[in-house]
Amino acid sequence: MTFEPAKSCVVFDVDGTLAHFDADRLGHLVHGREKHWKEFHEAMASAPEIAPVAHLFRQLKGAGETIVICSGRPEAWAAYTVAWLQKRDLAFDAIYLRPAGADSASDPEVKRVLLQKMRADGLEPWIVVDDRSSVVEAWRKEGLICLQCAPGLF
Ligand SMILES: [Mg+2]
Repeated sequence: MTFEPAKSCVVFDVDGTLAHFDADRLGHLVHGREKHWKEFHEAMASAPEIAPVAHLFRQLKGAGETIVICSGRPEAWAAYTVAWLQKRDLAFDAIYLRPAGADSASDPEVKRVLLQKMRADGLEPWIVVDDRSSVVEAWRKEGLICLQCAPGLF
């Protein structure tokens, strides 16, 4: 999907931003070099939404903003993420996930790559909402304003 001319958009992360994510309980599945995506996605399928962030998302969408989902979850498991969002009426315009073969890349690395992809597709974020400090820092290094919605120190 390519947006021409470039479209300004709002970027939302998923885990810890839109979806409740217990890093103490589930972090070991996804934060090591070896990922356990099946267990992770099965556990997150029933994760409740983080109501204030979900409200912000719906308000922005309702106001006509272009909403982009950007997550370190892998593309191969996209169906789980799309189903979770659809079930909660979180309508998005584009979704960018961890590319195949990039399991060993850190979350900040993955998001930098996904930002390049977004831009190549004609999407220019004007604001980003994310939770994890290392990722927030990466967005800011790219010159973007990132609203951090949780302490994100994990
Ligand atoms: Mg997150």
